[in-house]
Amino acid sequence: MEETVPGTQVVTRFAPSPNGSLHLGHAYSAMIAHDLAAKLNGRFLLRIEDIDGPRSRPELAEAFRADLAWLGLPFVETPPQSTRLDSYRAAAERLRGMGVLYPCSCTRKEVLEAATREGPDGPVYPGTCKGKGMEDVMAAPDGAVAWRLDVAKALAQTGPLSWEDERAGQQIAEPERHGDVVLVRKGLPASYHLAATLDDAADGVTLVTRGLDLFHATHIHRLLQALLDLPVPRWHHHDLLFDEDGTKLAKRRGSAALSDLRGAGVDGHEFVKKLRAGSFPAGISLGRP
Ligand code: GLU
Repeated sequence: MEETVPGTQVVTRFAPSPNGSLHLGHAYSAMIAHDLAAKLNGRFLLRIEDIDGPRSRPELAEAFRADLAWLGLPFVETPPQSTRLDSYRAAAERLRGMGVLYPCSCTRKEVLEAATREGPDGPVYPGTCKGKGMEDVMAAPDGAVAWRLDVAKALAQTGPLSWEDERAGQQIAEPERHGDVVLVRKGLPASYHLAATLDDAADGVTLVTRGLDLFHATHIHRLLQALLDLPVPRWHHHDLLFDEDGTKLAKRRGSAALSDLRGAGVDGHEFVKKLRAGSFPAGISLGRP
């Protein structure tokens, strides 16, 4: 099995998607990534993950930068995902050449109806389009296809894999739990899994820092690294912030936007000091999903 390159400077990252304002949970995540790098004299990167089609709102990226500055978390920004589409296309082409991608025209509804088991992210794709030719697949009404990873075939090429989480320890990679995930979305050059894995490698990230809600995604990312000969980082999946009903804080559920706090004159450095000390606003606590 591959090993992390020893002796390299630690590089962490915060990789928000500009489809809503940052809130307290993001501030916590950014603070953890920043501090893990800072304590080892490393680098803390900001990467804007802006390839979410119409949900991406470019104007939010500027607010994200201002939020981090307000929090007192200095960062180095790497190119946003929208500037990296060629690298995603090239990787998809390479995976197609290896025979581990297949086209799929199923709609979300069809996947939900046909699924027979639950995976970490919901119903697992049952492989409806696996083994079909491009012609059969293109028969879908809108002609658009997604490209899915044939996980069994991919694993047969890589052999067993493992990965290391700083908190949870050594993990055996079990990407099959997810089924054949989408790597190229209909009408977009990459899914989150493909884009984030390529970007972390291109950005030289050595410690992928993110919330526990993405712990399971790492099984897929580890497989992609092996298929594409990418360096293998370590991971740090931190706890998440929950409100009093045990619901994860989310921008869509109306958690206060950092930009509003900033605009209202709240002291961002004090705000982070409290997070660092584990002191959260009333009703908010850390937990596991
Ligand atoms: N862009 C993702 C999000 O905003 C985070 C991806 C990651 O940290 O790997 O949820």
